[in-house]
Amino acid sequence: MNIPITILIRYDEIGLKGRNRRFFESCLLSNIKLALAGVEPMHFHMPHGRILIDTDLSCAEECTSRLSRVPAVASFSVGRKVEADFDVMAAVGREMIEPHMVPGKELKFCVRAQRSDKLFPHTSPEINFEVGSRIMHDLSPRGLTVDLKNAKFILEIEVGMKGIYIFDNRKAGIRGLPVGCSGNVLCLLSGGIDSPVAAYMMMRRGCRVHAIFFDNRTFLGRGGYDKVVKLGGILNRFQMGMKLFIVPFQDIQVAIRDNCKDKNRVVLYRRMMYRIAQAVAERNKCLGLVTGESVGQVASQTLENLAAVNNVVRMTVLRPLIGMDKQEIIGNAMRIGTYETSIQPQPDCCSIFMPQRPATRSRITDLEADEMAYPMETLGMQAIENMEVIEMGSLAVRECAGSSGPRPMSSPDL
Ligand code: ATP
Ligand code: MG
Repeated sequence: MNIPITILIRYDEIGLKGRNRRFFESCLLSNIKLALAGVEPMHFHMPHGRILIDTDLSCAEECTSRLSRVPAVASFSVGRKVEADFDVMAAVGREMIEPHMVPGKELKFCVRAQRSDKLFPHTSPEINFEVGSRIMHDLSPRGLTVDLKNAKFILEIEVGMKGIYIFDNRKAGIRGLPVGCSGNVLCLLSGGIDSPVAAYMMMRRGCRVHAIFFDNRTFLGRGGYDKVVKLGGILNRFQMGMKLFIVPFQDIQVAIRDNCKDKNRVVLYRRMMYRIAQAVAERNKCLGLVTGESVGQVASQTLENLAAVNNVVRMTVLRPLIGMDKQEIIGNAMRIGTYETSIQPQPDCCSIFMPQRPATRSRITDLEADEMAYPMETLGMQAIENMEVIEMGSLAVRECAGSSGPRPMSSPDL
């Protein structure tokens, strides 16, 4: 049997956007439509300050699981349109509450009615009382109690001009801004714990995040590649449309290892990553680079070394984790679902490519001298020419119609 439902989506930060609000709202609406693509039936409307979706009860679970990953959604709830009859309202409310009750455990609840249809013959407190007492009559023997301040389940009733709706307990969204409204960025995604969290944090600030991975498959095998593709897929569920650039990096790492001072190696690798990332970012209309760096985490991330790395690019480098400690980052990785993949064992490059004692205070003139000792530009160009591009989501497929699968790119400005 079809049971029509309405999903109410609330957003908060967009509401503060003044005259640009329309732009942010339409960005969010198209992201929601994209996230719910394929779920039928679906009808969207957008009364002032929120989004409503009419669909069927059979789609509720799928919709709510997808909405919980859409940045800018502050909260959402599933509602049913009901007759103006307190017995019917209470019956629907009871159906919504019952699945949340655990035998032998108390559940604190309250009813919150809002009445914009002033012709409705009862005030909001009267509606609360009439519906609440009917539900209590049925469910208090099983542990339901009323608590107006600390309710764990809030049944919301809206009495409006277009009818009466009862809404289930609110589910939290991930808040932030709609992906796309801040522009594109390119994240250096390494397969570790940090960079996926950094990518996610920028998505929540309205950026569409593309990713670039520097792959040393010759020496380290396919493990890193497989991990990054998997991480890209997990991250893309928050935004759709990610492009993942895989850059062969082994020749560059070998050249640096064999021609430059040992202590400078890590910063030199990173400077090449930044240069190549900037070239790829500019060709793909990205406005900034994103990394998972955090001050002092490892030798390459002292303030001196961060400055030495930054020195080779003109593009803004965004480091959303810069002041976070590892435990905070791990907590976030667990929440967004990347942690389990990030900790999968990966071959260790330390013995082959890492110096015994990396410099913690590299000097730029010293690094530049090292960079004269290997064919930096030629190797950089070759790496980009042999780059693989993976389109991770539906948006990108539409943007670059006809270009599915790996696609080489050529001659960047390094
Ligand atoms: P993560 O920081 O993602 O956990 P990691 O610890 O292996 O991975 P770090 O040595 O901390 O990486 O490097 C700092 C940052 O440099 C990473 O967060 C990432 O943004 C970038 N980076 C390092 N290695 C790579 C790589 N092979 N490909 C792409 N980006 C990389
Ligand atoms: Mg790290």
